[in-house]
Amino acid sequence: MSGLSKSGFAARSITARLFAVFFAAVIAASAVGAPACKKDEKRSLTFFAMDTVMDISLYGSADALDTAQKTVLDIEKALSVTDAGSEIFKLNEAGALSVSESTANIIKTALALAERTGGAFDPTVYPLVHAWGFTTGEHRVPTDDEIAALIKKVDYRAVETDGGRIALPEGFMLDLGGIAKGYASDRLVELFKAEGVESAVINLGGNVHALGKKPSGEAWNIAINDPAGGYAAILAVSDRAVITSGGYERNFTLDGITYCHIIDPETGRPADSGLASVTVVSSSGTLADALSTALYVMGLENAVEFYRNSSDFDAVFILESGGMYVTEGLKDILSPKGRFGSEAIHFIKKQP
Ligand code: ADP
Ligand code: MG
Repeated sequence: MSGLSKSGFAARSITARLFAVFFAAVIAASAVGAPACKKDEKRSLTFFAMDTVMDISLYGSADALDTAQKTVLDIEKALSVTDAGSEIFKLNEAGALSVSESTANIIKTALALAERTGGAFDPTVYPLVHAWGFTTGEHRVPTDDEIAALIKKVDYRAVETDGGRIALPEGFMLDLGGIAKGYASDRLVELFKAEGVESAVINLGGNVHALGKKPSGEAWNIAINDPAGGYAAILAVSDRAVITSGGYERNFTLDGITYCHIIDPETGRPADSGLASVTVVSSSGTLADALSTALYVMGLENAVEFYRNSSDFDAVFILESGGMYVTEGLKDILSPKGRFGSEAIHFIKKQP
């Protein structure tokens, strides 16, 4: 676990910012020094944003990479829950605000996904995330009374939207940390397509989005981490986002109990559903990001039912007890790794 903020892309230390600036400068310098290149040359850019390391590789022009970084930083600036200049911060402070069209759209998408997941994904969960110290890094276990009071300030149905004007009831706060990276990857895919880039891999802190195929015509190989260490599987994908939520990513341990950064809005406590991680594969990064968080909260049984009523994603579930459950749409593209042999995998059929 890093010493940085533990809440999505919320707060960042000065060191992290300096590191980001330095790293960006080094990469910019190496790009400047490079000779004039062919259009289909492989180019990569690593930078720090949304509280994590971002790594983008594409076959195409260097301009597209620069614009990509700017786009991610702009999204962070608009959506960060701790940056006093962001639209989300101002909305949370004021209780009501007319936001930009793109911010209004992502808020509405988040609310729709909250509705679809029955509130397992809920962008109003922030008062709880904050109480557990996941934004400040000052981790603590709130009292039962505190949790009971804060749960009343969490309910996506209470958010009012009127065009670009968003209004929150007293004490409510929005947090798009559970969806922002997937949304950013969708925006980058759109951008790359508009710039004529046909092949790219966007890795936003482990949230990966593959555009097209490798120039060789092969699919991109995307690794799924094993929460216990190493890799659990490799997925061969093109034009798909592969996004994982796991309690192992950001958590803290107190008196022998480990608390993760994904909160079950119903209990007000860190999700504890027996899952170690959920990876969602979809052509939409936004959907994959929200659903990875939601399915993690739901637990395997409810997540399987949700999958059977859906037709826009596949998923890989790794249980704390060690098993791996994979939806049947991934059967031909998943290769198990490490401690997972093919005999350890259970496939989930669309029709029960
Ligand atoms: P990560 O940001 O680490 O990739 P997630 O996409 O699962 O992981 O998002 C977790 C973040 O989303 C938390 O840090 C918090 O800001 C927010 N969050 C936590 N629980 C929920 C929830 N039930 N619904 C929506 N957002 C949540
Ligand atoms: Mg998510």
